[in-house]
Amino acid sequence: MTQITSDRIFELIEKSRLVESGKLQAQLDVIRARHDGVLPEDPVVVCKELEDAGVITRWQSEKILQGKYKGFFLGSHKLLGHLGSGGMSSVYLAEHILMKHQRAIKVLPKSKLGKNSYLERFQREAKAIASLNHPNIVRAYDINNEKDTHYLVMEYVEGADMQNLVRKHGPLPYAVAADYVAQAARGLQHAHEAGLIHRDVKPANLLVNKDGVVKVLDLGLALFSEDTDASLTMEYNDKVLGTADYLPPEQAINSHKIDSRADMYGLGCTLYFLLTGHPPFPDGSIASRIIKHQNSMPPDIRKERVDCPGELDGVCVKMMQKDPKFRYTSCLQVAEILEAWLKKYREETKDNPSKHRDNNLSVTDILDGKVRSQQNIDTVANRGSGTIGGKMNLGSAVVSLSASDSGVLRAIAKSDASSIDSKIDLVRDTSKPNAQKSKSQAIAKANSPMSGPQNASGSGSPLVKPMEKPKSAAGPTIASKTAVPKNKSNTAVIITVIAIVLILGVGIIAAIIANR
Ligand code: ADP
Repeated sequence: MTQITSDRIFELIEKSRLVESGKLQAQLDVIRARHDGVLPEDPVVVCKELEDAGVITRWQSEKILQGKYKGFFLGSHKLLGHLGSGGMSSVYLAEHILMKHQRAIKVLPKSKLGKNSYLERFQREAKAIASLNHPNIVRAYDINNEKDTHYLVMEYVEGADMQNLVRKHGPLPYAVAADYVAQAARGLQHAHEAGLIHRDVKPANLLVNKDGVVKVLDLGLALFSEDTDASLTMEYNDKVLGTADYLPPEQAINSHKIDSRADMYGLGCTLYFLLTGHPPFPDGSIASRIIKHQNSMPPDIRKERVDCPGELDGVCVKMMQKDPKFRYTSCLQVAEILEAWLKKYREETKDNPSKHRDNNLSVTDILDGKVRSQQNIDTVANRGSGTIGGKMNLGSAVVSLSASDSGVLRAIAKSDASSIDSKIDLVRDTSKPNAQKSKSQAIAKANSPMSGPQNASGSGSPLVKPMEKPKSAAGPTIASKTAVPKNKSNTAVIITVIAIVLILGVGIIAAIIANR
């Protein structure tokens, strides 16, 4: 229990300037009147009553109860609550003192100031969002500092980020996932047209508001096309590669020699997450997951969601191709193809009441938990057929899709000749402080028995003959050099099992003999 008394609560609130003195006194009288003319002894009760009266917020009351009264204001904004924390900052909900509109304020902790690159990254993010204006990209209004507290004032998105949405409520209905990814693709296309590559596209960086509008955020790693000096982004050792689970293979190799299709890969992995509830390669160390992004295709979505429409699965697989040239040419194309699919899917399912509801689910429905009940009844009309949908007309582009697309694309991925050998420039296991790893450590770790053998053989569809592996100028792939052959590892497992059985048998016989 806190040592703060109820009287002290009022002193702290007055000092904090969170509430005008007159309003605070009036509320004090109300609380006294409710408790026989005296303040309740328990300061928590007092704070709760102030919260209920809308005088202070829950977050403010927690701070006050900790004896804090400073730091509730930044420039012309009053902080109301904590929205989230990312790799470098904390984000707060704030209200403009005079105009009363709500904003999200990203604050760079003072502790990060010592490292130059954090401030530069912060300023880079501000510059990046300020140069953009699109309904699917979070808006920035101001960047400022109060002494050494630097902050960025942004549009407040009331809703949830997709990481949390799926974590709490499970994989999304197909129509909802396709809609969200199409919107994000439109936002990213706008950034690409402005000469920016996001480089950290992942579910946690996609917010969806209560009206179901998706907003891309966190452009702190954005690469400007006019960037000639790589040294700044090279300094972001702990995050330069984006997040391992959504990291484009080419970005792991050289985070500066990428184009907008890198964002498409991250978005494809995000679609995979929205559909399955986990990233493409959820297991293993960070290094081994990065290597899987180089060499392996993730398990088929339809292993987990058997009724996933083949076209949607195909779009996802095409977005996640290892070699950018096998992906779509632009995020605009991704948006258009998903929108066209969505139209067709909604048309096809409009007579099916359960699926019709699925189509119209809002984010509020999802947050209310209506998603789970939908998952098991979502079926695909064309399941089991070889080809679905035929061609979609996307204005000028005609894109053909078939159920076997995913198989074909997996086979293409399997033939990918990209090599990470001698190319990973920065790999850092952020779960362990100062655990910066060299390329060789990363590779060694990825191939250690603990992290499990790499899927060097890929996961091509049995329907499709894998393509010949092209000869690479960069030499053999890491998989062909170091992966543990599957039959050898199987033999080891069998020998271990036989040994355990023998030891147990001998032990039991010995015990029987001893008892006699
Ligand atoms: P960092 O740059 O430190 O990685 P992020 O930009 O990823 O931080 O923000 C961290 C979290 O804060 C997000 O996952 C999200 O939950 C929340 N957040 C960030 N910006 C906003 C916003 N504009 N509106 C609402 N919540 C936000």
